[in-house]
Amino acid sequence: MEDCIFCQIAAGKIPAQLIYENDHVVAFLDNQPKSTGHTLIIPKKHFVSLLDIPTGLLSSTVENIQEIARIINIKLKPDGFNLCQNNGLIAGQTINHLHFHIIPRYQKLPLIDKKNLKKIAQLLKRQ
Ligand code: AMP
Ligand code: ZN
Repeated sequence: MEDCIFCQIAAGKIPAQLIYENDHVVAFLDNQPKSTGHTLIIPKKHFVSLLDIPTGLLSSTVENIQEIARIINIKLKPDGFNLCQNNGLIAGQTINHLHFHIIPRYQKLPLIDKKNLKKIAQLLKRQ
């Protein structure tokens, strides 16, 4: 969809701090992070909500989410993380392109780190 910001990120038309990409999915850092390493995972194809994505693609997306959560866990060593997904305005969905949040949680680090998005993306991208 042309007017969808996440479609444009998936197509490389607008910049984002990408950390992971395959044929179907792209993951990038949230630009208003709730914690260090706050990551969004989206299917490249436009679906509005969880109700719209075909189950086969959802299953493989969940596998990718686990893979990305493991990378975040190894690289950033959070004490835990939230996996969240909002559907509909009333539920807090502000971007109408299906997306999953991984929000790492730390006992000690400051909760929000907006300054180092590029550095964090580089760390998570490196194998
Ligand atoms: P939600 O409230 O579940 O719809 O989450 C949308 C998320 O997308 C918010 O956490 C925003 O900070 C994030 N967001 C919006 N635009 C961008 C962007 N251009 N790059 C990265 N994250 C974005
Ligand atoms: Zn879209």
